[in-house]
Amino acid sequence: TVRVRIAPSPTGNLHIGTARTAVFNWLFARHQGGTFILRIEDTDVERSRPEYTENILEGLKWLGLNWDEGPFFQTKRLDLYRQAIQKLLDKGLAYRCYSTEEELEKMRAAQAARKEAPRYDNRHRNLTPEQEAAFKTEGRRPVIRFKIEDDREISWNDMVRGRITWKGSDLGGDMVIARRSETEDFGQPLYNLAVVIDDIDMQITHVIRGEDHIANTAKQILLYEALGAAIPEFSHTPLILNKQGQKLSKRKGVTSIFDFKKLGFMPEALANYMTLLGWSPPDSTKEIFTLEQAATEFTFDRVNKAGAKFDWDKLNWLNSQYLHKLPVNELTDLLIPFWQEAGFKFDSESDRPWLEQITALIGPSLIRLPVSDRAWLTEMLTNIPDITAVPDPVEMSRYFFVTQVEFSEEGKAQLQQEGAKTALEAIKNALDNQELTAESAQGIIKQVTKEQNLKKGVVMRSLRAALTGDVHGPDLTESWVLLHQKELDKARLQEALS
Ligand code: GLU
Repeated sequence: TVRVRIAPSPTGNLHIGTARTAVFNWLFARHQGGTFILRIEDTDVERSRPEYTENILEGLKWLGLNWDEGPFFQTKRLDLYRQAIQKLLDKGLAYRCYSTEEELEKMRAAQAARKEAPRYDNRHRNLTPEQEAAFKTEGRRPVIRFKIEDDREISWNDMVRGRITWKGSDLGGDMVIARRSETEDFGQPLYNLAVVIDDIDMQITHVIRGEDHIANTAKQILLYEALGAAIPEFSHTPLILNKQGQKLSKRKGVTSIFDFKKLGFMPEALANYMTLLGWSPPDSTKEIFTLEQAATEFTFDRVNKAGAKFDWDKLNWLNSQYLHKLPVNELTDLLIPFWQEAGFKFDSESDRPWLEQITALIGPSLIRLPVSDRAWLTEMLTNIPDITAVPDPVEMSRYFFVTQVEFSEEGKAQLQQEGAKTALEAIKNALDNQELTAESAQGIIKQVTKEQNLKKGVVMRSLRAALTGDVHGPDLTESWVLLHQKELDKARLQEALS
């Protein structure tokens, strides 16, 4: 049966590239009725941090990428790697290399001068016992290198890219599989060694990861062979590129999964979008689906070789579809914390029906949830204009909660228009002791239009300006009714007239 894994290194927050790889692994596992395993590759102790591990686990959960086994931690499995390294040493397939950093630097400089690609020249592959002893006396500590023969050809049938062939001579010389140690015979294992040992031990059948790992796959196949283990299937998924066709930049961009959350994206929409980054469903017109639905159709022959361009407009559109599909009570639950954070005063229990009506009113025009950190949003929009600024639900609904409306320039100007004051005065008078419904509100507007001999547009725009401070917004009569329920409308009409 199929066993796949996602193997993030906790050296940063959960990244969109890692998350997309997780999505493909998850989809393949679910499609095949297989097992999805989570392994934290934390052997780089200097750069690994527990808070990154936390962020990765939380991010995967938030996206709905539940795993069946793990999380396993490589730092808890060091004995296993140690044994494998010892086995390779015993078999003569690996050896101790005593080269210092300065020596290697000199070697690379000489290669650069000859216009050659940098590679380790295997200089310590065949040290005599006397040479080794001399290095030890000098106090040098060795790394462990695994032998890679230049004339080897490594070839596999990639599930995405078809046949891939590498020459041993293109792999940079004998590779380091264990670091130096001041106290032990050798130190921490390196990625290529640890990953192979784990994939063997966890009986991984399919290795699905980004195409930046293709050269590693060639090296890893040599390790499988050296250890006498079965070689899994490999699948190298296309990289995610920005609009300009470059790799997404970690420093300048929005790449961490929780940054997408911060920007107001829904996990279901983001997971849906990531599924489409490099894969397309058999019916390409059906672009909105849950992970479970995508899993029923997910196969690697529908995964692209070409890099996947990140399209913010499409993500925005997908997100709006998910927001519009949400039941009003769920969307209200999502909005309440943002309203509270904005300092709006309401009682989330007794005001619930009123809040839900506000949600129902603004819901259909929402594209993303609100963003709390405005300064950060501005910075992101400057770095990546493609994100596009979208109407903020808190701003859209502000006039329901505040005592004093803020007027836009257009709103102010509207109140000075001919007929505006007449209309507002008449509306105010008509309002006396009225219970307001959408119907009676419309009745008042009609009546005032007729009696005062005004254009309906003037009446409506003036009323909207007085009540909301602006000339655009959601349905006017419904907004009015909601303001009336809080007895906010009369004061605003009065204020506009003064
Ligand atoms: N720790 C590696 C990474 O994050 C895993 C790559 C792999 O899947 O083998 O890139």
